[in-house]
Amino acid sequence: MARCLIGCGSNLGKRREQLDRAVELLRFMPGVALVAVSRFRETRPVGGPVGQDAYLNGACLIETDLPPEDVLGMLAAVENTLHRERLERWGERTIDLDLLLYEDLVVETAELTVPHPRMATRRFVLEPSVEIAGDLTIPTASCTVRDLLDNISVSHPLVAVVGVPGSGAHEVAEAVADATLSRLVRAPVPLPAALPPGSAAWSQTLSSWARPLAAAGWHDEPHGAIADFWLDSLAVAAADELPRESLARLEAELDAVARTTIQPHVAILLVADAATLEERVAFSCRQADRWSNVFADVTRSGVAVCTAPDVAVATLMRMQERLVERLRSREARSPRAPKAVVVVPADDLGRATAEATAAVEAML
Ligand code: ADP
Ligand code: MG
Repeated sequence: MARCLIGCGSNLGKRREQLDRAVELLRFMPGVALVAVSRFRETRPVGGPVGQDAYLNGACLIETDLPPEDVLGMLAAVENTLHRERLERWGERTIDLDLLLYEDLVVETAELTVPHPRMATRRFVLEPSVEIAGDLTIPTASCTVRDLLDNISVSHPLVAVVGVPGSGAHEVAEAVADATLSRLVRAPVPLPAALPPGSAAWSQTLSSWARPLAAAGWHDEPHGAIADFWLDSLAVAAADELPRESLARLEAELDAVARTTIQPHVAILLVADAATLEERVAFSCRQADRWSNVFADVTRSGVAVCTAPDVAVATLMRMQERLVERLRSREARSPRAPKAVVVVPADDLGRATAEATAAVEAML
């Protein structure tokens, strides 16, 4: 039998009744045993169209011999029974059932992502979950559900918007800081994709990046902060440039710097496809004499000016792969990677900003 954590919510119609019915339907499903149900609590809607009513949210723990895809199918069947309509993204709903965790399985298919991709910053998911299943592990972050709640409950959280040059990380970070009244922390110098040979230049960049994240004084600022960079990105960019020993040294420096700086609690990881990066690199190459263009970071990082556009795109894609690994892979995760990572597609920056803003607002 597999233990599954299910998130439930409703903000349309008779919320309480619908949630109660959903739980009853789960209780009597063949192959399912209901283990625990949290209290329901009222929460404000996050991310969807404005003017929605408040939600009631809760969580339940079940045991089942169904495989993950069938659990999702069963949840959809319960949603259909309770007249869930899918009209617009994050629109109001009579019932919403999400498969948050399925033992410590990681599933990433077109239909199903487990652990649920947005749960790590959602207070309305984590609070009821901790009530009934705080000790369950999050396989992608090697921590527990309770750790995720504690992680977003610190007094001065740091959210890093992370992406390769051209991903739009700076643009998105700025817009999210604006929308959420957070302090914006900019990288003092751009992420270099190419630096003069030798490791001194990388160390210098690291110390300049570390300065605005100094732990001393961090708590004197009134707000949470959004940074448009993550220190580990330096090691990612250096991987193609430095010999193995220098890389190991840079890694050790990152460790040392981590002791005196604030590490991000949340990463919003912007992931671009090759076509998007190609377009942005081409645009930045045409504008290479001006640094004021939208994707100035491509030029300023040296990607577009040092290399032909197709080489630049290949370099950026390789960097992005390593960045994703550092944040998300079970084996290669950085010891400094935040517990909460939310992946956002970078092709449409308006949508990326909306998703990133929703992820940050869900922490509050
Ligand atoms: P949210 O999950 O953010 O509340 P929706 O309920 O609108 O958003 O879900 C959007 C889509 O996500 C659904 O069509 C569903 O098929 C898909 N999906 C992927 N993984 C999961 C999961 N673990 N649990 C629930 N739905 C999922
Ligand atoms: Mg859902």
